[in-house]
Amino acid sequence: MRGVALLWQALLDLWAPVTCVVCGCPWTEAGFCAAASASRGLRIWDEVPLCRRCAAGIGPPCRAVVGTGTGDLPLLAATETTAVIAGVIHAWKYHGQRGLVGPLAAALAKSVRLLHPWEGCDLVPVPLHPRRLRARGFNQSALLARVLALHLGAGVREDLVARVRATAQQARLSDPEARMGNVVRAFRSPGCTARPVDRPLVVVDDVVTSGATVVEVVRALSAADLPVVAVLAIATSLPGQGARAAKVAAASPEGDHVANKAARAQWR
Ligand SMILES: [Zn+2]
Repeated sequence: MRGVALLWQALLDLWAPVTCVVCGCPWTEAGFCAAASASRGLRIWDEVPLCRRCAAGIGPPCRAVVGTGTGDLPLLAATETTAVIAGVIHAWKYHGQRGLVGPLAAALAKSVRLLHPWEGCDLVPVPLHPRRLRARGFNQSALLARVLALHLGAGVREDLVARVRATAQQARLSDPEARMGNVVRAFRSPGCTARPVDRPLVVVDDVVTSGATVVEVVRALSAADLPVVAVLAIATSLPGQGARAAKVAAASPEGDHVANKAARAQWR
């Protein structure tokens, strides 16, 4: 049977060679894992081949700290930012390979369960400005949150925070202070909407580099009395208790909210 399968694949290869969307290696070289999973926001043609070597580059899980200025928040990530994961995320965000959300969300869900006992929380994806959303066609953090929610049994709240100011792409700014200035006051929360907020909130972003974006999202939610207990990301370059985390904290002088403190205490 295996011979028939190989022959069939060889014929398919002649017609349309199957290559990894990230590294471009042919399927015979490394083997492939199923990349897409049927879920809200994905279409059949979003399925993409990802080789096992690139898939294996997602990990190991890491735990860091985001200093929000109103207390530290735990950050759970599937991996530190490495060249491999940067390549996967680049293909996913900028080359329209939506199906890569499958292995990325699966790796993050696995890491979250390894790093912390998961309790009922709702996921709040970092919103895109409507103009950026139109240009890219999808909000990668929202897609990640939706697929992640299927793994974790969580809800997704896209109604609690909006990006009210168009900003430059954080990825194009290398200096942490420039990143911070770029997103300051970029988000606003309407507070409670028609749906009550009855579960602790966890902010979801694709990559956390300086922490500036998620800090602003947490600040907007906190200003509307909505408790945030943690941040999830596929990859981060934030150290556990490093200089960059401290720097973000130092630039956010607002006071904490009592409910937030209690909710966050459960995550320590
Ligand atoms: Zn590959």
